Amino acid sequence: MATAVHEEAVQEEAVQGKEPDQGRERAARWTELQDTARDLARRFEARSQEAYDAGEFVAQNIRDLVDSGITAVNVPRDMGGFEATLEENTRLLRIIAGGCGSTAFTLAIHAVLTGSMRSDLSVAVRERMFGAVRDGAFIVGPFTDEGSGGNWVRPSTTARRVPDGFVLDGLKHFATGYDAATHLVVTAGLDDDHLEPPFNLAAFFVEKPEAGAGIEVASRWSGFALPMTGSHSLKLDSLRVEADDSVFPDGLTPLFVMARQQWGHYCFAAVFLGLAERAYELAVERTRGRSTTAVADLARLPGIQFAVARMRSSLATMDALLTEYATRHVDPGEDLPAFVADTCVPKYYITNEAEHVVATAFEVIGGSGIREGSRIGQIWRDVKAGPLLPFTNDMAREFIGKATLGISPVETPRWV
Ligand SMILES: Cc1cc2nc3c(=O)[nH]c(=O)nc-3n(C[C@H](O)[C@H](O)[C@H](O)COP(=O)(O)OP(=O)(O)OC[C@H]3O[C@@H](n4cnc5c(N)ncnc54)[C@H](O)[C@@H]3O)c2cc1C
Repeated sequence: MATAVHEEAVQEEAVQGKEPDQGRERAARWTELQDTARDLARRFEARSQEAYDAGEFVAQNIRDLVDSGITAVNVPRDMGGFEATLEENTRLLRIIAGGCGSTAFTLAIHAVLTGSMRSDLSVAVRERMFGAVRDGAFIVGPFTDEGSGGNWVRPSTTARRVPDGFVLDGLKHFATGYDAATHLVVTAGLDDDHLEPPFNLAAFFVEKPEAGAGIEVASRWSGFALPMTGSHSLKLDSLRVEADDSVFPDGLTPLFVMARQQWGHYCFAAVFLGLAERAYELAVERTRGRSTTAVADLARLPGIQFAVARMRSSLATMDALLTEYATRHVDPGEDLPAFVADTCVPKYYITNEAEHVVATAFEVIGGSGIREGSRIGQIWRDVKAGPLLPFTNDMAREFIGKATLGISPVETPRWV
């Protein structure tokens, strides 16, 4: 399908009088990027054999992604970049997740930040951000605070105004990929009296400070799911940022963030779809031609055939859904809350449905899946994180339900 889409793009460029060579060059680069991602996914899967149970951070994998140019795919065309579409980002994340969920999720945050921030940034931040990404920067996004949970548009981290900048204090609950970060997009609440939450939300693009210079790891990550993401908690202690580091105009950050929710929702969904796709492959590989003392060919059992059919149909549905949304539901339009509700649909459906596919694959593979170091065991653990990531199930259901019934999601009281 992706190839057809790209051939169409080449033809469209020819019709519009653009250089068809540019389209062909881009299509060739896109094929190369996907091949590279497949090679890397195989390498990452092999590395997981050693590192998963120890929960070691995927630092080498991130270095490989930087070296391969995959972390730079969102650099805008006017800065010499590939300017990957949202749909292309989801394709790469699905491939990488097939090899390692932790790496794909860590990359997803960088992809969301770089992909969603190509427009509407101040010129200074845009040039700084994409110049750095082109040269190998890796960006992480500690948004969630200990005191906010998933309600990170209402941060408990504070940003106090000082001459020429701000001073940030607070406890960031998760900073996935922090060890590999060169830069951070960090959120906080401005202390201006006239800005009521969530309109006091602000985001800052900063170089990763030296350890001890206003930021330190408060507790190191060790997780049941996605254990290799290095999602440490960070203490911000009088972290000084410049006024020019502010990503969006004061008071407007929540609106800019809502208008970019498609990136978070579709890229996260892609990671969990990629995990489910790999689980399915493993179940098929494990079953084909396998015999026991009682059964000459496990693939001939109706239970196995039905399970495979269920997984395949479910994956095809998720693939179609994500492709549809990542290509046709990317423009916020006029009605922002309705758009956000729309973007919740594939995130909600895919992260939950992926769990069902992985559970079915686990059953098909059988008891060997529980053995230490099994790939399906890793996937089974990783896929549990999907519904917990923003928007969580409850928040997604609220947005979708209210939009459908014509109730504003910001109306108070919320429920009566
Ligand atoms: C492996 C991993 C890595 C992560 N990495 C990052 C990262 O790099 N950066 C980052 O910013 N965050 C990160 N997160 C945090 C993630 O964004 C949060 O898990 C998510 O926002 C939910 O917050 P919480 O887990 O604190 O749950 P809570 O927000 O405390 O939610 C607990 C329960 O209450 C419900 N709930 C809470 N508030 C509401 C509400 N307003 N309406 C309805 N229901 C509600 C939730 O649905 C859930 O069922 C990571 C999480 C994980 C698991």
